[in-house]
Amino acid sequence: MSANRKLLMLPGDGIGPEVMGEVRRVIDWMDKRRAVTFGIDEDDVGGAAIDAHGTPITDEAMEKAMGVDAVIFGAVGGPKWDDLPFAQKPERGILRLRKDMDLFANLRPAMCFDALTSASSLKPELVSGLDLMIVRELTGGIYFGEPRGIEDLGDGQRRGYNTQSYTTSEIHRVVRVACELAEKRQGRVTSTEKANVMESGILWREEAQHIRDSEFPGIEMDHLYADNCAMQLVRSPKQFDVIVTDNLFGDLLSDVAAMLTGSLGMLPSASLGAADATGRRKALYEPVHGSAPDIAGQGAANPLAMILSFAMALRYSFDLSEDAKLIEDAVDNLLAGGMRTGDIMEAGMAKVSTSVMGESLVRELDKLAA
Ligand code: NAD
Repeated sequence: MSANRKLLMLPGDGIGPEVMGEVRRVIDWMDKRRAVTFGIDEDDVGGAAIDAHGTPITDEAMEKAMGVDAVIFGAVGGPKWDDLPFAQKPERGILRLRKDMDLFANLRPAMCFDALTSASSLKPELVSGLDLMIVRELTGGIYFGEPRGIEDLGDGQRRGYNTQSYTTSEIHRVVRVACELAEKRQGRVTSTEKANVMESGILWREEAQHIRDSEFPGIEMDHLYADNCAMQLVRSPKQFDVIVTDNLFGDLLSDVAAMLTGSLGMLPSASLGAADATGRRKALYEPVHGSAPDIAGQGAANPLAMILSFAMALRYSFDLSEDAKLIEDAVDNLLAGGMRTGDIMEAGMAKVSTSVMGESLVRELDKLAA
């Protein structure tokens, strides 16, 4: 069988290579047991690339990233590179990937596995069965808007300022992604801004509704102010299906939603670019966590966020929803069976290493696929 699905793996630093190793294990299993094969390339990113090539990502690695169906990214950074000037830091590697691949839609699911409801900061009944998706605009808004700066006012005062700005097409493309996702879920999109106090919010609300009305009549869309959305997320998170919002509010709301589900070690993400003529989108999948230097090299990292990010690649880049679901069900079963890495450890459960978690997942996949 030809490997018609092309992946670039960028493990990076710290626990990145450890958790990526467990994705390899899942891919090997899929190669053997499912009707799919992957053509895999690998390269350095972050501190590893600085050490090997003097730059957080080489032009060659960027070229590979532009040519594959999906980039699977681990994590970058660590104390060894902390003193480098900002422009040379490991984190510039992921920033360049996002920018050059024009990954404008960041998908952060908040799924609460039943066995982990007690790890949530909310009451179990509020989060049990939770499955919501936050779509955050990633390349525009106040983090990039001009003018920006800090100016000296000459009277002992300084003024810091940034600009929130969105164009029609920037809003349209990210709202389209949210509506397409909702079509495959419960068909509901909540668009979130601050139209009560910001002109950019008024435009966001009008243009989001326009996309729904003109292109997605089957989608139910409502609009919430971002502060109310934050409140609703901790009051009654199960009311949401897909939330779409701008870069700044998405940054905050996706972290709030993350805490509903317990641990950083369980949280996957995807970043998508524009669709080409064949409908294929540039895409990068990464766990939400960083390189966790405090536990790197100890075999203590939870590989599930990385593996669930790979499951997102199966669903969104390769249309292999059944295989993605198989992985999610296997994770659910392992957790229900009491298997835990240190970050999600609870009394009475079995504490296991990164590789034992990965091996057990593959055994669970075997059972489910039998
Ligand atoms: P972090 O996410 O690396 O770690 C925060 C805490 O969570 C640590 O105690 C860590 O041990 C724990 N943790 C994280 N992932 C875990 C996992 N899979 N299993 C078990 N425990 C886990 O965040 P940080 O400590 O703020 O940053 C460390 C480094 O990572 C920094 O250099 C930072 O710049 C970088 N970072 C990179 C990314 C990225 O690559 N996208 C994202 C965030 C932080």
